[in-house]
Amino acid sequence: MARALDPALCDALAERMRFYRDLGLTDFYRRAAEAPGSIESCAESHPAPASVSAGETQSAAAPSQGSFFGEEPAPSARRPSSVFSTALPVIPAAERVAALESIRDDIGDCTRCALHKGRNRIVFADGSATARLMFVGEGPGADEDAQGLPFVGRAGQLLNNMIAAMGLKREEVYIANVVKCRPPNNRTPEPAEANTCSPFLFRQIDVVRPEVLVALGATAATYLLGQRQPLAALRGRVHSFRGAKLIVTYHPAFLLRDPRQKKEAWADLQIAMRELGLKPAARA
Ligand code: SF4
Repeated sequence: MARALDPALCDALAERMRFYRDLGLTDFYRRAAEAPGSIESCAESHPAPASVSAGETQSAAAPSQGSFFGEEPAPSARRPSSVFSTALPVIPAAERVAALESIRDDIGDCTRCALHKGRNRIVFADGSATARLMFVGEGPGADEDAQGLPFVGRAGQLLNNMIAAMGLKREEVYIANVVKCRPPNNRTPEPAEANTCSPFLFRQIDVVRPEVLVALGATAATYLLGQRQPLAALRGRVHSFRGAKLIVTYHPAFLLRDPRQKKEAWADLQIAMRELGLKPAARA
């Protein structure tokens, strides 16, 4: 007889199963359903949400060709990454936490750009200072602004699932955003805002020195690469930025709006995995 699962565990399993199913990893479910408990019934009793909350949609909208830079180029466009990638010293692993804390101290109670006016908390980063893999998003949403951590809402749950599908734990990667304060109504950061804040992100990248960077969405890709191009033109290949290999994929919030693109995102993540020598998560 099937054993009832804890409701919270059931929710998490259902979300994970939907994610794998969207990726086409159906074999996972067949095997999982053989395990004790009512795992399969979780997915059946937890249909996928129809839409994303307003707070998660705008900033991670579908890749567009809208203005990111305005009249001024992004910092990374002005400063080719190759200039920095070989010149910077590698900070010993044992000193990286302190180095990141130093960056956070430099940010302080920042008022350098207009985004400070509407924020509750500065969202610095989350994860390991010695991560081999780093994700870069656009900016905090409502949940992130409330908790002071990046990617903790529904998009964050999806990112967690993407990380797990790669065979990693969230605490093994490093996660940050182009801007550290929530834009009003989750709008895309203005060029002046992104250009003011992104140097802190670049310093974080220089400390963590990930082998692979994954840009989540068009804004992250644009400000890392210094290229104002449609996401489709940037995906599917390996770029380089500050000594790391850079992969471009969709923002999880966009994937929540258009789950059909999850397979495309999985293909991007597989490029990152190949570069890291990772194999997909073991299936239950
Ligand atoms: S977004 Fe960045 S630069 Fe702007 S106020 Fe926040 S921390 Fe400062």
